[in-house]
Amino acid sequence: MDPDTGDILSMCTYPEYDLNNPFQINNDELKSNWDSIEQSDKNIYLQQMWRNKAITDTYEPGSTFKLITTSAALEENLVTDIDKAGQFVCTGGIDIAGTYIKCWRYYRPHGSESLRDALMNSCNPIFIGLGQKIGVSKYYEYLRKFGLVYKTGIDLPGEAGSIFLAEDKVGPVELATLSFGQRFEITPIELITAVSSIANGGMYIKPRVVTAVIDSETGERTEIEPVIKDKVISEETASKVRDMMKSVVALGTGKNARVEGYSIGGKTGTSEDGVNTNKYVTSFMGLSPAEDPELVILVVLYNPTGEGGHQGGGVAAPVAGQILSEVLPYMEIKKTEIEEPEKIETPNIIGMTVKDAKKFLKEMEIELKMKDEIEEINEAEAVITEQIPSQGIIIEKNSYILCTIN
Ligand SMILES: [Zn+2]
Repeated sequence: MDPDTGDILSMCTYPEYDLNNPFQINNDELKSNWDSIEQSDKNIYLQQMWRNKAITDTYEPGSTFKLITTSAALEENLVTDIDKAGQFVCTGGIDIAGTYIKCWRYYRPHGSESLRDALMNSCNPIFIGLGQKIGVSKYYEYLRKFGLVYKTGIDLPGEAGSIFLAEDKVGPVELATLSFGQRFEITPIELITAVSSIANGGMYIKPRVVTAVIDSETGERTEIEPVIKDKVISEETASKVRDMMKSVVALGTGKNARVEGYSIGGKTGTSEDGVNTNKYVTSFMGLSPAEDPELVILVVLYNPTGEGGHQGGGVAAPVAGQILSEVLPYMEIKKTEIEEPEKIETPNIIGMTVKDAKKFLKEMEIELKMKDEIEEINEAEAVITEQIPSQGIIIEKNSYILCTIN
């Protein structure tokens, strides 16, 4: 999705079928005895095959939904510094009205975390805590603002609506599970549209596939203007969330979506497909370039059974990474230049006094450190007898040389 116009640049569902031959069933078993199947059953199979799951099917989004909780918490000023160390603590779980809800890493709790850490770790208790502070009525206000309780109104048939508990039925446990993306269902198109608001600086924009109508007889072209609705969150909140999404891909659970040279933000998600089915829905929600996104991507995999397991980071993130590695160059999106640290050759400082060496190295943007801890040094008199690394070694600027003095 292009977050500035709402244009759906690409949307696909697998298994696919030939759109030029829509009555040809795509399932080999059904195909072999197609003629013996009752027409009414044929219709059901065809309807099933034609489903565009991105808009007709709801699913439980899981942790990708923490982006919504994060946005609401920032917008409500519940967190101001996203990097404040020790703002939160994960003890492995949290007691909510007598129900103990575990962090996925309950056996080795995350401990002290900033908001950025919590999102990178996808740590449930922190988001439950934020959900509690936001409260049911405010939380529902954000669901409405992000368009999650309504159909998007995309210009395609068969769009399904989301399934949320009525606001007055939401107790502490329901609010807790809502905060980390479970026990409700939305469509993929609703989620990607909500996250497009984070991508475009806070505006809700209606998704669309038709940008213009051309009269085949007269050639007259009628442009369809993008439909930009209300402000959902501030630009500042949106940019903070994107910055944290970047860390999720650079260092956290989304690192399999990395594409060298490009700035990508994202969030992974895993949830159960139904209750106690042992089937999972796993997903990756991403955007690029993270600083000023030109596209938003959502990959949803139903019941993955391959080597990567069923976690979003293991199976959905790599798929998103593969898609992005082809789409970003195709869209001519500029690579983010990765700054190579400046390098420098180490000089000889043996025989210099500490004072002279410090002054000399400062000009080269290198620091001088003592190899041994010495309480008091007369810098003007202490002479350097050894240095590590020795002269002529290539090191990065802003690093240091260790020395021993007489
Ligand atoms: Zn945790």
